[in-house]
Amino acid sequence: MTSTNSIASDFHMHSSFSADSSTPMEEQVKAAMARGLSSICFTEHLDLDWPYDNTPADGSDETPFVIDYEAYRGEFQRLQGKYQAYIQLYFGLELGLNLQYQSAIRDYLDQHPDFDFIIGSTHSSRHMDPYYPTFFDGITVEEALRRYFTDALQNVQAMPWFDSYGHLDYILRYAMQQFTEKELRQLLSQRGNCSSAPHSFSDWAYENNKDLIDEILQSLIANHIALEVNTQPLKRGFPETNPGKAILRKYRELGGDLVTVGADAHRPDSVGFGLDAAADLLRACCFTSYVTYSKRQSIRHPL
Ligand SMILES: [Zn+2]
Ligand SMILES: [Zn+2]
Repeated sequence: MTSTNSIASDFHMHSSFSADSSTPMEEQVKAAMARGLSSICFTEHLDLDWPYDNTPADGSDETPFVIDYEAYRGEFQRLQGKYQAYIQLYFGLELGLNLQYQSAIRDYLDQHPDFDFIIGSTHSSRHMDPYYPTFFDGITVEEALRRYFTDALQNVQAMPWFDSYGHLDYILRYAMQQFTEKELRQLLSQRGNCSSAPHSFSDWAYENNKDLIDEILQSLIANHIALEVNTQPLKRGFPETNPGKAILRKYRELGGDLVTVGADAHRPDSVGFGLDAAADLLRACCFTSYVTYSKRQSIRHPL
């Protein structure tokens, strides 16, 4: 029997310092310890481009997705001191990429050099978030995907200032909900002949956007940026991680070998979720290690 190493680090996690989580940081730390993790990285949201055109109105024009940096840093350091004998804590950021805010994003990074790890994520496309179903109003799902990956490619090429690219096919979590189960079955069975037939919604989306996605992967590799395996979709019942197997295989085939893993937990019950499945998936895609980051430098761990 070959011995395998499981993944004991969750490098994508939120707490009440992100506008979409109400979980105290300490609760996330305790959940990570209860699951036997050896390290975690908090990656609170910074999204300067908000509210979006399809955000349900809440009466405010100000984005809540900015971080109270001093408070975040202070609480992080307190917990780091308190739990250092039990678990390693890292200080990170999930940076919402958007071309319109390119210079403000650059300024923010220059002014805050203390992060251990920065995830770059495309949450919006054409000033809308696919999280809200109205993103898909008036266009086909195919068109929505083209738009999203076109914007994602521009973001990655223009702002390669982060360590790992978050949930590359984030839009799929929501795009799949646009189809009924019957429509999905038809969609996936229509495609190609036996040898090239896609096996999943993620495969189908990749095949339709291969040109754009391959260019994103090439850009990441050229800039020594890691690709994230985000396991949150598994918790929500989506069949694959973001990104799925087809994209991970392609990244490996193109020579990519920097992969980070995170459950994107906003609540304690999601901390560390799906890390074993991610390890199996990565091994199946011929990866022999994953990486974590400290002071923006990668640390390799065998799989
Ligand atoms: Zn995200
Ligand atoms: Zn996140």
